[in-house]
Amino acid sequence: MPDAPALSFVIPCYNESGNLPELVRSLRDVADGLKLTYEFVVTDDCSRDDSWAVLQQLAAADPRVRGQRFARNCGQSAALWAGMKAARGQVIVTLDADLQNDPKDLPRLLEPLRQFDCVCGSRVQARRQGDTWLRVASSRIANAVRNTVSGETITDSGCNYRAFKRECVADLKFFKGMHRFLPTLLKIEGFTVTEVSIANNPRFAGQSNYGVWNRLFASFGDLLAVRWMKRRMFKLPIAERIN
Ligand code: UDP
Ligand code: MG
Repeated sequence: MPDAPALSFVIPCYNESGNLPELVRSLRDVADGLKLTYEFVVTDDCSRDDSWAVLQQLAAADPRVRGQRFARNCGQSAALWAGMKAARGQVIVTLDADLQNDPKDLPRLLEPLRQFDCVCGSRVQARRQGDTWLRVASSRIANAVRNTVSGETITDSGCNYRAFKRECVADLKFFKGMHRFLPTLLKIEGFTVTEVSIANNPRFAGQSNYGVWNRLFASFGDLLAVRWMKRRMFKLPIAERIN
């Protein structure tokens, strides 16, 4: 097995054949500019288009492109989680496959890792650039509800452009829908989390997988579970130790 790379790009993929070549090309440009060693870990969430065939071609041309394919569609969280488990890098960078997350923002996400365990992208300042008003409004409401209920302050919990040290997720329990709560779950575990402002591009190709309904309401049960966990998890107040 080759040496572990410094960085793993972990990418969930559902019907993204029109995006994968450009995504890999532009991430490679940025990461090469930073003189990083890296790999791509793409989890094909049982796409119905030819994403898997495209991935095979990309991997044949560059062995740093790694892929795995689900036998059935399991959702974005599962695809992210499978990618994190397969990742070999010391730092994991998660991002969407559709180039809405801009590869050029990579340095902004990596820089604060000197002081923090996890850096989350926030699209709040750039929101109107790449989204319809309906998406902006539903995301704003979803964030406000999530933060109020879970006592969180993160401004854009739906953004999956994040960089974190691999220890952050080594012992984490992942569940369906939890990609929206990763910052909170990491804080519960005692990791430090910060946010940086990032761009928000329009989709390069293909279609969004979410409507207003699942953006706003589908995660409400998960939100209550996260609130419960936050309140009930032990925070062991050890004052002194002997030996
Ligand atoms: N995705 C996935 N499985 C799904 C739905 C989405 O792996 O069942 C991936 C998708 O390919 C993309 C990311 O999750 O890389 C975010 O999806 P999308 O761009 O549709 O979400 P939006 O930007 O509209 O919130
Ligand atoms: Mg998208």
